[in-house]
Amino acid sequence: MKIIGKLIVSGFQDLLNLFYPNPCLLCQNTLQSQEELVCTTCRLQLPETGQHRGEALVSGQIKFAGKIPVEFVYAYLYFNKKGKTQKLIHALKYRGQKEVGSLLGRWYGFQLKTEIQLQEQIDLIVGVPLHPAKLRQRGYNQSDWFAKGLSEMLEVPWSDKALIRNQYTISQTGKDRIERWQNVSHVFTVSEPDLVANKRILLVDDVLTTGATLEACTATLLASNCQSVGIITIAATR
Ligand SMILES: [Zn+2]
Repeated sequence: MKIIGKLIVSGFQDLLNLFYPNPCLLCQNTLQSQEELVCTTCRLQLPETGQHRGEALVSGQIKFAGKIPVEFVYAYLYFNKKGKTQKLIHALKYRGQKEVGSLLGRWYGFQLKTEIQLQEQIDLIVGVPLHPAKLRQRGYNQSDWFAKGLSEMLEVPWSDKALIRNQYTISQTGKDRIERWQNVSHVFTVSEPDLVANKRILLVDDVLTTGATLEACTATLLASNCQSVGIITIAATR
């Protein structure tokens, strides 16, 4: 009975697709019933960094080197202007498509789980928090959705309560490194110290740019006696 139910549902979905085709976010071709948001052809063309396999360093990783103790910094995809990654990030951040975050989290999570057993190296996944006003405006935190997808695949818990953001970070353009650092160093607070104490934290964000925000989060977490911090972002520039 269950199988028949499934067949009816999938038949109904195919019928629905005939009248209301679900386009791929990237190429607009109609998605097949087993595909989600992005078609297989586009998925295979995503510019993966392969960093967790030691394939490459991106500028963000170099920025971190020696400045603050992090276990690792990996980005799933290269960010190229007008490329596929930018389209995905844009849909995730500005077009309300939060499911893109969890989808990419599951895709990358599968690689991290099967290729480097990341699930054995971390205890808790934490997204970089948005300012409450921004959260209200967007309705969700895109980093939390990426965290959710990683959590689902790695079977490691995630939390949107551990770390909170206190104040708006003003624009960082035109400031030097020290000013940027002062600008963000008091922005975050660990709201539940018991949750992070002695834990190996995986901190996640959407795009690795200057690294100032991630540095501030890492410093806050380390000051709260977590055991270690590793960083994963959806994307980073080359
Ligand atoms: Zn496509």
